[in-house]
Amino acid sequence: MSNQWDYYNMVGFAPEVNPPDDLERLSISDTDTALFLDFDGTLVDIAPTPDAIRVDDCLKSLLTELSRHHDGAVSIVSGRNLREIEHYLGECAPTISGGHGAELRYGGEHVEGVKCDADRLDHIKKAVKEFAILDPRVIAEDKSFGIVLHFRQHPELECKVREFLTILVGEDDAFELQSAKMAVEIKPKGISKADAIGRIMAFKEFAGRNIVFAGDDVTDESAFSWVNQQGGVTVRIGEGPTCARYRTQSPSTFKAWLLGQVEAGRS
Ligand SMILES: [Mg+2]
Repeated sequence: MSNQWDYYNMVGFAPEVNPPDDLERLSISDTDTALFLDFDGTLVDIAPTPDAIRVDDCLKSLLTELSRHHDGAVSIVSGRNLREIEHYLGECAPTISGGHGAELRYGGEHVEGVKCDADRLDHIKKAVKEFAILDPRVIAEDKSFGIVLHFRQHPELECKVREFLTILVGEDDAFELQSAKMAVEIKPKGISKADAIGRIMAFKEFAGRNIVFAGDDVTDESAFSWVNQQGGVTVRIGEGPTCARYRTQSPSTFKAWLLGQVEAGRS
């Protein structure tokens, strides 16, 4: 068994066989569907560094159209800080979950997020930033409720990064590691994109609708699993084992499918 499959089993789910690249066969109703969309790797292409992504006006107008067609039942669900998503998307995304569920914006207003041990988090952040200064091949991304070490430029550093963060977090009751694409993150224990989706589904625009969740990363798999259990639709963008029911090749093909859904709704 590969290390990747060992990892999936360790975190509590075993991906099913690879679903085919068949998203174009799926059509959704804008009147009874709530859309939950990851950001990096789902709506925008992954870039060499987190701040090097490109967000064009087409994406903003697509999100505006989707929100209008779905009567506001559209949310971004990202691991990034809420404020970064706001910076990139502005008013095109009134509902956003940031920091893997640690932060929430609804109706354009910030809703109280997760509480965590600020002193302990500061200590962790300082140690991680020092690590990145001592080895500039990795990039530290400071987040509101955690911190990430990216090794995209140097994948050979994964073991070193993981070992350091594992020792740093140790047996901490309040924080845990989360793996992502070419990165490992420290985040508060217990928060998740699945919880964020569940929380957002209580809002009036979303309540009673069928969930559609799209993502591209290992960090999205536990939410895929939860959404599947709710009878929702799950879409994996890109390659790799997944428990999502549908797959599409890239952010471009996914956005083309979303645009097709909007256009079908007009006819
Ligand atoms: Mg992503």
